[in-house]
Amino acid sequence: MSWTVDGVRISRVVEHVMPFPVDFFAEATPADVAAEPDLALDFVDAHGRYRMSLHSYLLEADGRRIIVDTCCGNGKVRPLIPEFDHRTGPYLADLVVEGFAPDTVDAVVCTHLHLDHTGWNTRLVDGEWVPTFPRARYLLGAADVDAWGRSDDPLHAPAFADSVRPVLDAGLVDPVEGDLPLVGPVRLRATPGHTPGHLSVWIGDRCVITGDVLHHPIQCRHPDWTATGDGDPDLARATRRALLEEAASAEALVLGTHFAGSSAGHVVRDGDAFRFVAED
Ligand SMILES: [Zn+2]
Repeated sequence: MSWTVDGVRISRVVEHVMPFPVDFFAEATPADVAAEPDLALDFVDAHGRYRMSLHSYLLEADGRRIIVDTCCGNGKVRPLIPEFDHRTGPYLADLVVEGFAPDTVDAVVCTHLHLDHTGWNTRLVDGEWVPTFPRARYLLGAADVDAWGRSDDPLHAPAFADSVRPVLDAGLVDPVEGDLPLVGPVRLRATPGHTPGHLSVWIGDRCVITGDVLHHPIQCRHPDWTATGDGDPDLARATRRALLEEAASAEALVLGTHFAGSSAGHVVRDGDAFRFVAED
């Protein structure tokens, strides 16, 4: 599956798809989910749980190869989340199939530094976590580097240590402050709220890779719901509404970082909220 927007080719490698409980969004009820039959079964499973995908988007722009988000990684010790713990998936082989052999990657963008977006930043070689993409610059939100680097959160402190610290120590990180043009029409946009240094990726105004501004299409219907992990829920809400407004106005292709199915579609206005119209 691939898309071409403003001369930028975008493809995707899925690491895994997993169910999340309804109360992943604090305000959501099973009735709210049942009221969206259009979301079955790509986005809501037969048990009424959210289907969530963990994947990377792969961008080729002006001959440069960019990976957006690096999922959970293999072999990471994550006892608090069984699906993330000691994984052994074919992600790297899948990257090669897509033409993204690790040593040909020019840039890695982590939309933020939660553990499901940084895992493949590193891989285990001879007992040591080393950068998976040795030639790449790693573009990370400066505020996230600062915040998570000081955190003792039991989930994210170990993830920072094995998936972010090694690329920092290797001198591969370019901290990103605010908006940043990357290559051609690809630019990073500051979208704080879920985390302080959160970034979304826009291709001109024709396509947006959401990061965790949106986790699931149902948030288009309920932009004010609070997602687990939203560090600043009010700012996250404002950022989410602004992104949805902009995507709807521009009729932009929306690529959802945790959206299952094709993960792609468009956002249309619906009353004082929105609807996600998925692309097959
Ligand atoms: Zn995430």
